[in-house]
Amino acid sequence: MASSNDVNVKVAVRCRPMSGKETQMGASTIVGVQDTMISIRNPADDDIKKFTFDYAYSVDSQQTTVYTDVARPLVDQAFQGYNGTIFAYGQTGSGKTHTMMGSGDDHGIIPKMNFDLFEYTTSTATPGRVAAQTDVGTKYLITVSFLEIYNEVIKDLLNPSDKVLKIREHPDMGIYVEHLAEVLVVREPSDVSRLIDEGNKVRQVAATQMNERSSRSHSCFTIKIGSKKIETLGDMTRETAMNAKINLVCTSSVDRLSVDLAGSERAAKTGATGDRLKEGAAINKSLSALGNVINMLADRSKKGHVPYRDSKLTRLLQESLGGNSLTVMIAAVSPADYNYDESLGTLQYANRAK
Ligand code: ADP
Ligand code: MG
Repeated sequence: MASSNDVNVKVAVRCRPMSGKETQMGASTIVGVQDTMISIRNPADDDIKKFTFDYAYSVDSQQTTVYTDVARPLVDQAFQGYNGTIFAYGQTGSGKTHTMMGSGDDHGIIPKMNFDLFEYTTSTATPGRVAAQTDVGTKYLITVSFLEIYNEVIKDLLNPSDKVLKIREHPDMGIYVEHLAEVLVVREPSDVSRLIDEGNKVRQVAATQMNERSSRSHSCFTIKIGSKKIETLGDMTRETAMNAKINLVCTSSVDRLSVDLAGSERAAKTGATGDRLKEGAAINKSLSALGNVINMLADRSKKGHVPYRDSKLTRLLQESLGGNSLTVMIAAVSPADYNYDESLGTLQYANRAK
C-alpha cells in the first residue's frame, strides 16, 4: 500500500469465467489479462483497448489471492488506526458478490476478513503479523454493521424495519448512521456468515430479465475495530485507545441506465420501466458521485471541494475515503462479447480512479 504521502487509492480489475449459459449461447471471450494489464476487444471491429491497473485478475484467479493482495493490507492498517474502504463495481452478474461475499463455501473478502480479525485478536503473536494486537494488556472491541442504500434511502440489514435511517455527524464520533445496529463480532467465523446470510435475505431485490434476483441497492458492511492498550510504567498506567473502520461496499450498477434511459437499447435489454428507471437514476447518482470523489482523491493536482455530500454513499464513506485512508476499487467484468459496452464502461470508470 502507498505511504501516507502517496495517494491511497488502489484499483483492481477482475474478469469472471464464462458462465455455463454464456458458453451455451455461443458467446466468445473478448477480455484478456496479462500481469496488471487487461485488454478488451470490440466484437464489432476487433479494435483492442488496453488498461493497466494495480492488479488485474484473470478468469482463474483465486479468492485467496484477491484477498491477500487487496484486502489484507487494510486489516494491517486498521490495527494502526487507519480507515479503509473496498468497493466492488461492475454490471449485474459480473462477479461483485462473488468477490465481496463469495459463492457458497468459496468465501470472498468479507468472510475472509472477519476470519482474519478473529485470528488477529485471539491468536498469540505470529511472525509477520501486526505485533500490537497480541501485546499483553491490549483489549479489542470489534463490531459490525450492515446496511443498504436503495433509492437514496438507508436501511439496516441486521435489524430490519421500515425505519429510514439518517446520516448524522457528531463532533467526536464523526459521521454515523443513527439507530444502525452494531453487532459484536466475532465469537466464531461462522457467526459472520450467518449474519451476512440474514442481511442478504432482507436486501431489496427485484427480478429483471437479465438476472433474476439482481440487487438494486448498494450494500455496505462496516467493521469497526477498537483497541485499548494498557501499559504499566512503574507505578503509572497508560491507556492508549485506537479506532478504525473498514467499509466493504458492493455497489449496484444499473448497467449504465443513466441519462437517456427510455427507449435505449440498454433499457430494453434489462426490461427496465417505471420504478426500474427511478432506481437506475438513484444508483447512477451515487456511482457518479463516488466516481467524482475517487477521481478527485486520485488526482492530486485537483484541489478544492470534494463532493462527498452529493450522495448518501459518498457521505457515509466520507471519513474512509481520502486522507490517510486506504481505498480499493475492484472493477468486475464479464468475459463475454455481448457485454462489451458494459465491460468497457466499467474499465473506463475504473481508469478514472487511478
Ligand atoms: P454480481 O454480484 O456482480 O451481480 P455475482 O457475484 O452474483 O455477480 O456473479 C454472477 C455469477 O457468476 C455467480 O453465479 C457467481 O458465483 C459467478 N462468478 C462470479 N465471479 C466468479 C469467479 N471469479 N469465479 C467463479 N465464478 C464466479
Ligand atoms: Mg451481486
